[in-house]
Amino acid sequence: MARLLGKRPPARHVETIATEDTVEQLSSEFRLSKEKVQSILRGVGINLEGSNPASEMGLYREVIACKVGDRSRFTHSDTSYEEVLDEQLRSFDEIYVDTAPIIQEDWFLHFVTDAEPILKRRKKKLIILEKTLEELHGLKDNPEKDKEVRVRSTIRPDLIRQLARRGLVRIGDTGSTGIADDHLVSLFSQIGATKSLLLVTQDRGLSERIVRLAQQLEQHPKQEMKKPWYRRFFGRKRADAEQYAHQMVACKLIEEGKLKRCYICPECNESYYDDLHACEGMVLCGRCYLDLKEQEAKQIAANQKKREAELKAEEERQRKLEEEEKRLEREKLKQTVGQRLEMQKKRFIKRASVVLVVLLILALLLFVVLL
Ligand SMILES: [Zn+2]
Repeated sequence: MARLLGKRPPARHVETIATEDTVEQLSSEFRLSKEKVQSILRGVGINLEGSNPASEMGLYREVIACKVGDRSRFTHSDTSYEEVLDEQLRSFDEIYVDTAPIIQEDWFLHFVTDAEPILKRRKKKLIILEKTLEELHGLKDNPEKDKEVRVRSTIRPDLIRQLARRGLVRIGDTGSTGIADDHLVSLFSQIGATKSLLLVTQDRGLSERIVRLAQQLEQHPKQEMKKPWYRRFFGRKRADAEQYAHQMVACKLIEEGKLKRCYICPECNESYYDDLHACEGMVLCGRCYLDLKEQEAKQIAANQKKREAELKAEEERQRKLEEEEKRLEREKLKQTVGQRLEMQKKRFIKRASVVLVVLLILALLLFVVLL
């Protein structure tokens, strides 16, 4: 519209920082020389000139952090979070990370920094598939993708290699044919029978496939992994709860690298994300839960009403029965009085007729005598 009227739309005010200040700030934050800061940024295609949007500072920090391996600024400020994450991660034998969560914002940096002490302590690794590295490689040179995606796709392989060197990441090979999603699903269906698996992915469709696959596998009892004889002999038996613990779970990363699990509602068949709990993946969604509660409440009210009506009917029946009994009693009483009167009457007639007969005989005798 503004163009039609020959007016320029008002330019949005973008806060900027001069290159000099940007470099100065980053070099003091990371204790690097200004030249080093600029060369790292240039290495991923960021050429600072004049002034730059202040909103990109976070991206520059990510780039330098990945390059020099200093992730101290991505730790969680809430110290109790490590315990929460430990609770979430410890039951999984293998943790796979898909491509999208690695390059969405700085969430992967948060996740990996928070998970590092847990992975070390529990001797676990994140598994990143060869396919993901190929995808990152393809994204970094794709002009259709925006700058942040390109920069992150360029810098993340450096981080992944660093993590692999430190024993926190294993690069998994799944072959290079077919669609990556299909690979993951078939891989999970093979190893899901013996291992507890977590897939970190932003892909809702893929997450839903994993939840349904887990549900299918749930029908079959979990096969215990073959342990070496000394483990079988000396090893402690795992508690039942831990043995049951989720077999196959799909989570996405959200702000600050936290995990949100994908669930499917068995009632409406729709997927949704919620906190990661040790339970099955097919769980009623909030809406269906409320509907069900409402239905239950209605059913209870209907049952109560029915019971009350039955009680009332029963009371009525009892009342009628009692009334009938009383009536019969009265009838009986009336009958007996009537019967007694009848008997007295009969007795009176009998006596009267005897007296009459005697009187007749006497009269007859008197008549005969007088004659
Ligand atoms: Zn539902």
